[in-house]
Amino acid sequence: KERGRGNWVRYAGGMERPASAHARLGGDLRRALDAGEFRIVYQPIVSLDDSRIVGVEALVRWEHPERGMVSPIDFIPAAERTGLIVPLGRWVLRETCRQAAAWLAEFGPDVLDKAAPNVSVRQLHDPDFVNDVAAALADFGLPANRLVLELTESAVLRGQHVSRVLHELHDMGVRLALDDFGTGESSLSLLRAFPAAIVKLDKSFVDGIELDEPDTPEAHARQAVARAVAQLADALGLDTVAEGIENQEQADRLRRLGYHVGQGYHLGRPMPAEKITEIFAAGRVKAAA
Ligand code: C2E
Ligand code: MG
Ligand code: MG
Ligand code: MG
Repeated sequence: KERGRGNWVRYAGGMERPASAHARLGGDLRRALDAGEFRIVYQPIVSLDDSRIVGVEALVRWEHPERGMVSPIDFIPAAERTGLIVPLGRWVLRETCRQAAAWLAEFGPDVLDKAAPNVSVRQLHDPDFVNDVAAALADFGLPANRLVLELTESAVLRGQHVSRVLHELHDMGVRLALDDFGTGESSLSLLRAFPAAIVKLDKSFVDGIELDEPDTPEAHARQAVARAVAQLADALGLDTVAEGIENQEQADRLRRLGYHVGQGYHLGRPMPAEKITEIFAAGRVKAAA
């Protein structure tokens, strides 16, 4: 209890030895979870053909009493190392299911097709994970096919147990998305073995994809990868989402390369649930640019 906030600030300043700082951060995360300091923001996932919102990704934030909104980049790695990601991820999953069920009840499936929380590999190794997902769906009355779990390639590569878990989720009707695709150890056999429904092209292939001048080898490579991923997904019957779209030129280019769905600041920023509700309530099924 006397792990005060000052200690957190010292850790953030990088002035402590990593091990003890690490223990403190783990304790602070636990306290934050108990104190209800985590929030979820939702980012629209948008049709590039007609700008309709086809889903939302749930992204966690830490509303720290002194530091303000803390990015997941600054605490998810620690939560993974300390194991706190298991209860934190369970909270994100349940809160996303609750919110998605509320939106579905209020606005119907034409307005909200699916909601997608991120899931860490640690959660996939938690023996309760499949039960937790089933309970979250049942407790809030969310149909399984409205839930997409976003996983990274490195998470799904990890052997028999994870593979069984993923197939159980797939059999329940939950859809699985391969996040940040192209950045990990992507392999064709992985894509074939994994019961994926969606491939999310990583932002690093979207950055600069609109540029023809200067006509660098890197720019060509990005376009080639983006096109190849779209074609591969198509051949395997997977949907695609292009991540990190920041301008209309990127959206146009990605459409020409075979993408029908995108996500990014240009299409809609991550926002609190109430903002999404306003968009739905206003009948603006189209995301604000
Ligand atoms: P991600 O799952 O790939 O999520 C997309 C990230 O890109 C989000 O960052 C989002 O805000 C950001 N983004 C979206 N569009 C744009 C854009 O146009 N430009 C730029 N520059 N960025 C864009 P965020 O929210 O900071 O999350 C970072 C990462 O943290 C996520 O990457 C995900 O891997 C992880 N994360 C977030 N929430 C959770 C969670 O609840 N559980 C777990 N395990 N990981 C999470
Ligand atoms: Mg994600
Ligand atoms: Mg992603
Ligand atoms: Mg990413």
